[in-house]
Amino acid sequence: MRLLSYKGGRGVRAGAVLDGAVVDLWDALGAPEGRRPAPGAAVAAHPTGVRALLEAYDLSAIAAATEGAEPGPAVSEVELLPPVTDPQKIVCIGLNYAAHAAEAGMEPPAAPTFFAKFANALAAPGATVTLPAASEKVDYEAEVAFVIGTRASDVGVEAALDHLAGYTLLNDLSARDLQFQTPQWIPGKVFDGSAPCGPYLVTPDEAGAPDAIGIALDLNDERMQSSDTSDLIFGVAELVAHLSRLMTLEPGDIVSTGTPAGVGSTRQPRVWLGDGDTCVVSSPQLGELVTRIAR
Ligand code: MN
Repeated sequence: MRLLSYKGGRGVRAGAVLDGAVVDLWDALGAPEGRRPAPGAAVAAHPTGVRALLEAYDLSAIAAATEGAEPGPAVSEVELLPPVTDPQKIVCIGLNYAAHAAEAGMEPPAAPTFFAKFANALAAPGATVTLPAASEKVDYEAEVAFVIGTRASDVGVEAALDHLAGYTLLNDLSARDLQFQTPQWIPGKVFDGSAPCGPYLVTPDEAGAPDAIGIALDLNDERMQSSDTSDLIFGVAELVAHLSRLMTLEPGDIVSTGTPAGVGSTRQPRVWLGDGDTCVVSSPQLGELVTRIAR
């Protein structure tokens, strides 16, 4: 199943793809009675978005409602938004592919390295992202991200995958000059639009094995990165388990798993994003995330 967020006349809506058309999931599931937001969970900013949906319904209920639903407009006719528009957390893992750690001249970490982005970073599929004036050296990073479906606190590796809602694509746009000004990478990771995300939230049954998800990036039609999640140093289940020991993960939280080799800052000559560039992050399982760059 492919879930999505879109903007309609009724604001931010959660949908599913059925034969190329969008099923509005709040219409399909009816009034959100029986909602089960976890005790203590913050109220979703978008009450008819995907995060609120995940707080209210199991994937099985969503799938059942989708099957019998009346398809709405074609996917190509709606304005897609990031699959989760109002996550509590956007966690990004660094140095999680051995070949990327090597090209960056860094030792693969003994425990997952991570940093955060904030909601201002999210950009929709097909969006144009304006480069920050504060940086001259913005780079791309194609990543497979996963989204939490059910609250996860101190879960073990063996139960970790049960907490997933699915997977999506994320381009961890990175201002390298700001990233390395201080020991913390966050200054280079937080500019507006620095996390294009989407197009879909692909559920685990459709995405297949978590260690076999392809990931590639084309910059202006030239292949720059190509790998799959079998090369992750810390796999999806390990990341859920590790992070859930440090903090409670909530429905809609996004965890981006890191980028493979081939980023622009390690190339000779170096490649920085500029006005008019187009990044396409793609995956056979997860689709295609197109982002245009403007200065
Ligand atoms: Mn990254």
